[in-house]
Amino acid sequence: MLAANAGRLADEARRAVRAGADWIHWDIMDGHFVPNLSYGPRVVSFIRKVVSKPFDVHLMCSQPEILLEPFAKAGADSISIHVELGARVDDLIWKIRALKKRVGLAINPATNTNAVTPFLRHVDMILIMTVNPGYGGQSFIEEMIPKIQQIQKWRRAKDLNFRIEVDGGIDFETAAHCAQAGADAFVSGTTLFSSRNLRGAIRKMRGAAEKAALTAGYGPGEMKKAERNR
Ligand code: ZN
Repeated sequence: MLAANAGRLADEARRAVRAGADWIHWDIMDGHFVPNLSYGPRVVSFIRKVVSKPFDVHLMCSQPEILLEPFAKAGADSISIHVELGARVDDLIWKIRALKKRVGLAINPATNTNAVTPFLRHVDMILIMTVNPGYGGQSFIEEMIPKIQQIQKWRRAKDLNFRIEVDGGIDFETAAHCAQAGADAFVSGTTLFSSRNLRGAIRKMRGAAEKAALTAGYGPGEMKKAERNR
């Protein structure tokens, strides 16, 4: 939603769902963890009333503790917090579970992949930032591909079912690269919202990702398995 027309968020969310989006991704920025501000739970709660697809809330915030319950009440289906919060991550995961929401753990480009390993069994999703968080419209960081591959390797080796979500600079080409590396959830803003045909763009991106996943030998089983486990 970061790339949507912010003056017409409800219409834009409805338009995305009508065009075939599976989830609505909300980037919540606090002006502290990232140098930008976006929206709070009140805005999300109003749009919840007119959109039925899952709301995927990504908290790029230094104090997610105070936001978990408000966003759960606002209608979040999944809530992601950042692994960079360190010692507080365990407690935050437990708190999101207690709110009966799906748990995502996000990792910034500069953070070592090993940071997420202690939590793999306890999350529904690993959210790999493929740009530095804070703004929409940035270019995909190619060096994040090995990070996706590593997490996919761990997922297979440990026979876990969490999703691998990529966020930042996702266009038709980078979606395919990420899918080939093991990603199975794609956050795309600028590419989709700036296209003249949103439905066509979503279909094209899904097709590119599915084809790449199949070529890499993941599908259709792996993506479908992740789907069932949502
Ligand atoms: Zn995000």
